[in-house]
Amino acid sequence: MDLAILVDFDNTVTSQDASYAILDRFAEGDWRRIEEEAFRGKYTILEALEIQSRMVRGDPKAIDEHVLSIVSLREGFLEFANWCRENSIHLEICSDGFGHTIPLILKREGCEHIPYTSNHTWFEGDRMRIAFDHKREGCPVNANCKCSHLERLGSLYGDVIYVGDGATDACVAGKASHLLARDWLAAYCNEKGIQYTEWKEWTDVIEYASTLL
Ligand SMILES: [Mg+2]
Ligand SMILES: [Zn+2]
Repeated sequence: MDLAILVDFDNTVTSQDASYAILDRFAEGDWRRIEEEAFRGKYTILEALEIQSRMVRGDPKAIDEHVLSIVSLREGFLEFANWCRENSIHLEICSDGFGHTIPLILKREGCEHIPYTSNHTWFEGDRMRIAFDHKREGCPVNANCKCSHLERLGSLYGDVIYVGDGATDACVAGKASHLLARDWLAAYCNEKGIQYTEWKEWTDVIEYASTLL
């Protein structure tokens, strides 16, 4: 049986949220209020990202440097990625944040070979722009519809493990046959009665995936 592992990026692959790092430093206006209002259902994630990206103002180079100085990989991720490679497991990242932060971090870590999907972000002068290349009409949660990637990998590889931590993973939580959750996502699954396995470290993910090989 072939196996794929689909993983969230911010606070899953990394220990910090790269989009929050940008907003904290470079957003003009109360971006956290937008985040809270999105949590309460006033905005979708897509609408919130659109508003928040428009708040960002700064020198793109300084923004990249800031992201690189703040965001680190969660311990054990590189070993996990190598383990996937050695075992011919397809590893893919899906993120619902500011997409340009992902190749920045992956390149620094020497693992830019890992495929990813996210929202497309770029700069025009000192302004951030965003486009939603992976939105799916009817997706109730995401701007980058994570369940569509789960379905795609499912049809290509058969078994898919999903690994996540946060609100942007709620879309896939009820659909993944192998769900590894922590933090907000684990609490959400408890509340909704969704079956999951709790993970804390990347070695937990290796241990779980090994049972499927
Ligand atoms: Mg996350
Ligand atoms: Zn979706």
